[in-house]
Amino acid sequence: MNPGTRSLVGEDGQQFLFDPGSFCLELLLTGGPAQHQRDELLRAPADLADWLAGSRLALAAPMADVRVRLTELRQLKEFRDTMWSVARSLVRGDAVEPRYVELINECAGATLRPELDPATGGRRWASPITGDQILGAAARDAIELIGQHGDRLRECHADDCSLLFADTSRPGSRRWCSMQRCGNRNKVKSYRNRQG
Ligand SMILES: [Zn+2]
Repeated sequence: MNPGTRSLVGEDGQQFLFDPGSFCLELLLTGGPAQHQRDELLRAPADLADWLAGSRLALAAPMADVRVRLTELRQLKEFRDTMWSVARSLVRGDAVEPRYVELINECAGATLRPELDPATGGRRWASPITGDQILGAAARDAIELIGQHGDRLRECHADDCSLLFADTSRPGSRRWCSMQRCGNRNKVKSYRNRQG
């Protein structure tokens, strides 16, 4: 599986692949506020390190030597809850609370630093990777997505699915979280409707 693409399980037990298209939205799959209804995957700092290994950040270089403190994990979760609320408001055309935007801005300080491995010339992240840097990467990603590509922020078109993603397709025509999942369910539904 490509880093950044996640295997999810629908309420009916169907397993499907979902690419949220951006790191800040991928983070929303790890949990969030109660109304988001996602299980908390990041209970301890080690959970975050494990999760990052398969994340979109690993597309650029492996997420090795991740060291996260408990306070950093708490901040990341606070960012995640805020991001969920902001993204959902935006896709639904609701007003976004300025204090939420301010929180995203405040989180964008620390940066993941890419460097070259002197032995191989390959790209790697300067080590150790800290929780602060992960938070910074997520917040910068959110600022870029919302500020530059806000029109590409989407909620899955299925009535009973609220997965959020960034449409990175060239024509900007992605409607479904996954063709395998909601795209296919919609096809079946419209086929049935045609059959009357
Ligand atoms: Zn969906």
